[in-house]
Formats: sequence, C-alpha cells, structure tokens
Amino acid sequence: MSKLTIAIDGPAGSGKSSVARLVANALGYLYLDSGAMYRALALKALQRGVSLDDETQLAKLANETHIELTPPTPEQEQSGIKNRVSLDGKEVTEEIRTPEVAQAASRLATIAPVRAVLVAEQQRAGAGGGVVMEGRDIGTVVFPNAELKIFLEASPEVRAERRWKEHQEKGEDMTLEQVLEEVRERDKRDRERKVSPLVRARDAVLVDNTAMDAAETARLIVMLARERERELATAAAGRKA
Ligand code: C5P
Repeated sequence: MSKLTIAIDGPAGSGKSSVARLVANALGYLYLDSGAMYRALALKALQRGVSLDDETQLAKLANETHIELTPPTPEQEQSGIKNRVSLDGKEVTEEIRTPEVAQAASRLATIAPVRAVLVAEQQRAGAGGGVVMEGRDIGTVVFPNAELKIFLEASPEVRAERRWKEHQEKGEDMTLEQVLEEVRERDKRDRERKVSPLVRARDAVLVDNTAMDAAETARLIVMLARERERELATAAAGRKA
C-alpha cells in the first residue's frame, strides 16, 4: 500500500498534536510537529536576547540553528510528549512548552526568511512520505501536494479549556481567561500575518472537533486516510494494467 503525506492544520488548541500523533500511530507513520520548530527557534532567540522585531538577526539565527524532531521515549510518551525536540544538540522538549515561548514563536513565524528556513527543514524531514505533519501552513505551503489534508477547528472557548487543562496538569498557575486571551492573540496573529497565514487549503477536509475528543477525531481521519490509500493503490494498479 502506498504511504501518504498527511497535513493537519488548525489554530492553537484545536487538538492537532494529540490527533496527529494518534493518526500516525494507527497508520505506522512518522509524526512531525512543525510548531515545535518555531518554538525551539523562539527559545533560542529569547535565551540569546535577540529582539523579536529584529528580522535580520532572526533570519541569521534560523540559518545557524539545527533543530531535530525525533519520536519520544516510552516514558515521555506516557507523560503525553509527542515529539522529542533537540535544539543544537540539546534536548528542549519541555522547555518550549510555555506561553512565553508560544507567543515568541508566533511573532517570529511572521518573518518570511525565518519561515523559508524552517519550511525547507520540514520538507526534508517529511520527504519520504508515510508522515503526519501538523502546523499552520502544512497543506498550503509545506506539502501543497499532500494526499490528505485536514483543517481542524474547535470553538475558541473549548480550545482555551484544553490548553488550560494542560497547564493545570503541569502545575502552572494560569486562569482560563488568561489562556483564552493568549489563544485569541496568537490565533489573530497567525490568521492575519502576510506570509503563510493560517487558512484552510481549498482541498482540505474541515473537521470541527468542538464536540469530539482526540480519539474520535483521529478515528475519523484514519478512515479518510485508509480510503485515500486504497484509491491510490487502485489508481497505481490501473496504470500498470
Ligand atoms: O503549534 P504550536 O502552537 O506549537 O505553534 C507555535 C506557533 O508557531 C504558532 O502560534 C504559529 O505562530 C507558529 N507556527 C507556524 N507555522 C507552523 C507551525 C507553527 O507559523 N507550521
């Protein structure tokens, strides 16, 4: 059976990473979280004190940075970690999961030369197919020819609540209102930026999971993927005959 490239895009808290990881596991595909790359670069910029308005320095930093995504260890997977992230050889998997890094990531994600570097990395990482990549521009820019594209949506309140629960589990003290504000601000920036804004690709299947959990959403996407795999196998057999 031919292996697909699956692109999953959507706003913060739409369940992309949980869903994408479950889909990848069910299909035996590689899971890649493109947002983790923006976060890792943002962490480096914050650590070095590079201004998030300094486009030239940030583009230079992107070019000098090596970010790698690998599958989590079984222990990490147990605690909900979906990709291991290394920044210039040092693991930063947990450090990048703060609201401060998320906001910084969404600011540097507005800079075209920064995006160009990370998009090229993402294309290299997913080049072989058999991959589920999630982000904001995967179906529109990174893999415009992906065989299956999903655009995940959920109401802002439900998305904020999901993020708030994650913070609670980590013992972080944030109110639901603060999380809702953070999510709204980031969404607005992601949707309104000039380069590669968050939009649904014309051929993406819209899945609103406001009332569905990650497992149900993943089951639906796995069904769509199996259907696409069969269609491609039939088309390939037709070409051979
Ligand atoms: O997905 P996550 O919330 O971890 O992404 C952090 C930020 O990185 C997003 O708010 C967005 O600004 C940026 N991003 C992006 N394009 C992607 C993935 C993430 O612009 N493909």
